[in-house]
Amino acid sequence: MGQIQLNQVTKSFGDVQVIPPLDLTIEDGEFTVFVGPSGCGKSTLLRLIAGLEDITSGHIAIDGADATNLPPAKRGLAMVFQSYALYPHMSVRKNIAFPMRMAKMPEDEQKRRIEAAAKALNLTDYLDRRPGQLSGGQRQRVAIGRAIVREPSAFLFDEPLSNLDAALRVGMRLEISEMHERLKATMIYVTHDQVEAMTMADKIVVLRAGFIEQVGSPLELYHKPRNTFVAGFIGSPK
Ligand code: ADP
Ligand code: MG
Repeated sequence: MGQIQLNQVTKSFGDVQVIPPLDLTIEDGEFTVFVGPSGCGKSTLLRLIAGLEDITSGHIAIDGADATNLPPAKRGLAMVFQSYALYPHMSVRKNIAFPMRMAKMPEDEQKRRIEAAAKALNLTDYLDRRPGQLSGGQRQRVAIGRAIVREPSAFLFDEPLSNLDAALRVGMRLEISEMHERLKATMIYVTHDQVEAMTMADKIVVLRAGFIEQVGSPLELYHKPRNTFVAGFIGSPK
């Protein structure tokens, strides 16, 4: 579970088309990175997938079922925000439980899911701490834990590390890559940082002005960039 297909998707704001007709398939379990310069439409594309913006035309399918008109809560996707948005006065356990409490899930099911998420994210020893007592990486894991308990078919990240300093970013990159290895979940990760794209992605989608310039693995893009824009952006010698 976790395949996402975009079919001739467009997005206009007023009469400005920021996403021209776009086709893209994201495979189950893949770590896909959307990369491109500021303003090229990365966030817009992610928000269209999440359902936070309506597409202007085209179709979106999730796990083979049409999701074009589904509200965000029904898409089975989890958006992980940059600020993590944890509740400082609540324990890690309560932060993770929050969406399940809101959904009035039975207590024993909540407990089962919290334990499973904590185990998957190496947070078992931290469940009774508060966010302020955790490192940046651990807080990121709690934010993901809170997403995991809803059992999403994919996780969406919009530049989650862009506010961190360079040293912290390296560690967080590893944390997120490791989490992907462990969860084997579909992840879509937006960044304007070439190094993040090259080191984290299974598949990179290079965007320019809403267009897909090229899709490929980091090695494919490095060795066979389709044009000078991709070569320049990815940093390959051509
Ligand atoms: P990125 O995330 O790659 O920096 P965005 O997706 O935020 O780019 O923006 C793509 C284009 O769409 C930009 O030209 C931006 O100004 C425009 N845009 C984004 N959101 C809106 C909006 N709500 N209203 C009007 N224009 C928007
Ligand atoms: Mg953006």
